[in-house]
Amino acid sequence: MSRTPATFIREGVSLKPFNSFQIEAEAALWTEITAEPDLLRLQDTAAFQQQPRFVLGGGSNILFTQNFPGLIIKVRIPGVTVLSEDDHEVVVRAGAGVNWDELVRYATDRGWAGLENLSMIPGETGAAPIQNIGAYGVELESVFVSLDAIHLESGDKTVFDREMCRFGYRDSIFKKEHKGKYLITSVTLRLSKRPQLRLEYGNLKAVLDADGARNPDIRDVSRAVRKIRASKLPDPAATGNAGSFFKNPVLTADRFHELSERHPTVPSFPAGNQVKVPAAWLIDQCGFKGKRIGDAGVHEHHALILVNHGNATGRDLLDLADAIRTEVQERFGITLVPEVNIV
Ligand SMILES: Cc1cc2nc3c(=O)[nH]c(=O)nc-3n(C[C@H](O)[C@H](O)[C@H](O)COP(=O)(O)OP(=O)(O)OC[C@H]3O[C@@H](n4cnc5c(N)ncnc54)[C@H](O)[C@@H]3O)c2cc1C
Repeated sequence: MSRTPATFIREGVSLKPFNSFQIEAEAALWTEITAEPDLLRLQDTAAFQQQPRFVLGGGSNILFTQNFPGLIIKVRIPGVTVLSEDDHEVVVRAGAGVNWDELVRYATDRGWAGLENLSMIPGETGAAPIQNIGAYGVELESVFVSLDAIHLESGDKTVFDREMCRFGYRDSIFKKEHKGKYLITSVTLRLSKRPQLRLEYGNLKAVLDADGARNPDIRDVSRAVRKIRASKLPDPAATGNAGSFFKNPVLTADRFHELSERHPTVPSFPAGNQVKVPAAWLIDQCGFKGKRIGDAGVHEHHALILVNHGNATGRDLLDLADAIRTEVQERFGITLVPEVNIV
């Protein structure tokens, strides 16, 4: 791909290799950026000014439901830089195009704690703040310092600190007011040299015990998380999926009390002064686990994961998701909210 404005935009690019659902869809226009100046140059082109645009990371949290009529901007900004370091902590800045799990390995290999529970989450670093990625009791927010972003319309650069990002459960300002408005170029994280391990979530402790890690360090934790994830989650390279399709509903204590009166076996876990209910349980109760309509299906072991068995279209998967939402709404009076970005 040449880097002059006239030619560095390609036409009619298949998105199949660029989304973990492996959905066949086409981008009318496509470009890749590896540094901020690429974006500034891009902003001068007619393609950029006239078309709808979409910023793409690793494509692991997206469902393409149609061909994209405008310009896809694929972010490939590399590089990890140590900004400061002392005996207690290290502050690192990673380019938005750095593979998230490579960043996790980079940190854990050096004994820098904070990312180990977030091992093996697919995608790129620039997307991590968008939904405040989380796993095994830890969210990005806990290590986040700031991010650099460029406003797509104005080209203005803004540094967003943690407060400005308004992180929530699988949520941030970039899924609300600022949805689609900024391109994140880098993310800055504060990692600790004095780890405080978080082992209370799921079977993490049990797996560490079974592996004989009596005084585990962050590498042991990362290894255990990888082991659990590899055994539980479908590999998108083999079966198209985007991880959890829906968020787990968060209910008020009163609302949960009502629900548990009617459904005494409903599982739950605390979420501040509210209660989180596993969406997988709700979906399973509605009989969807393992269900398949054509090539769109619900994973046989994970009711929260929708899968593409081969040639499902984004529409097929969306129809299935809609059927699930309707059924859960009718049966439990709970509205499931997609975690995946529908495009
Ligand atoms: C098997 C599997 C397991 C998963 N497990 C987890 C998990 O445990 N926890 C979790 O939180 N998520 C999980 N996910 C979801 C996914 O990995 C994360 O949401 C990840 O952060 C998405 O990164 P991405 O680069 O693929 O983003 P994409 O899918 O490319 O994009 C996601 C959104 O971010 C926007 N975006 C991407 N990059 C940028 C940028 N540089 N600037 C501005 N906007 C941008 C896109 O426009 C889009 O709206 C899982 C997915 C899969 C397939």
